[in-house]
Amino acid sequence: MEKNDVISTLSFLGIKPSKHFSQHFLVNKKISERIVNYAQLSKNDVVLEIGPGLGVLTKKMVEKAKNVFGIEKDKKLCEYLKKIPNLTLIEGDALKTVFPKFDKIVSNLPYQISSPLTFKILEHDFKLGVLMYQKEFAERMTALSGKDYSRLSVNIYYRAECKILETVPKNAFYPVPKVDSAVVLLKPRKPPFIVENESNFFKTVNALFSQRRKKIKNSLLNKWKKFADEKDKMEQIVEELKDKNKRPEELSPEELGELSDVIAKNIIR
Ligand code: SAM
Repeated sequence: MEKNDVISTLSFLGIKPSKHFSQHFLVNKKISERIVNYAQLSKNDVVLEIGPGLGVLTKKMVEKAKNVFGIEKDKKLCEYLKKIPNLTLIEGDALKTVFPKFDKIVSNLPYQISSPLTFKILEHDFKLGVLMYQKEFAERMTALSGKDYSRLSVNIYYRAECKILETVPKNAFYPVPKVDSAVVLLKPRKPPFIVENESNFFKTVNALFSQRRKKIKNSLLNKWKKFADEKDKMEQIVEELKDKNKRPEELSPEELGELSDVIAKNIIR
């Protein structure tokens, strides 16, 4: 869809793009074609799309896939989307809706809910995701060192292969957002390293990165309320940690895994 088509269709539907719904519609035909091509759809694939909007990606995907499920929150857009053949429309909030079974997920996501949506997506068993995010968020998803390396990066690295396929300038959307975007490939895989206790691993990572400027030693001792009743024991364990004087961003996901194992071995019963 070209920009003028998007403007006239929105006006016909009586829709004023809402910031609250992250409504920025893709108006660059070449980019929408590339996004669908990255997913390499075949007639065996069931595709899930979150926030189909005016169906720029949807209309291309229904021709290539076995079936496309679209979850759209905006009722007026749903009325419009109902006319697309081979689309199974689910009217509702993607964070609250139970996802259907799908092989691939292709979406230009509502950026305001990128993080919870990504974790929800990763709870599912699927082959491949091609997802558009705010560029800054995509950089945090894929970083394995430096300033963008974060708890999000570690959480994703543990669950999936993740890389930026291309960056997308803001003028590829109507209305033009404040930030650039990026298309990300997400390919679930077995964890690249083993941890003793996954829930403890994620708790360790989240606790450490919530104070990313602090040395590991101080984070663990000062902030980890859960272990307050184990303070003496914690002090002893922390003293013995080889990376105690480093900051979390200086440790690879694997090293964070080793660290959480030491804690799990000593504290989790
Ligand atoms: N896919 C379209 C495109 O590329 O032009 C629209 C993308 S726009 C960035 C995000 C879309 O997600 C909008 O259609 C918006 O109404 C929808 N949306 C926002 N929040 C949602 C939610 N919680 N659940 C489902 N859809 C949502």
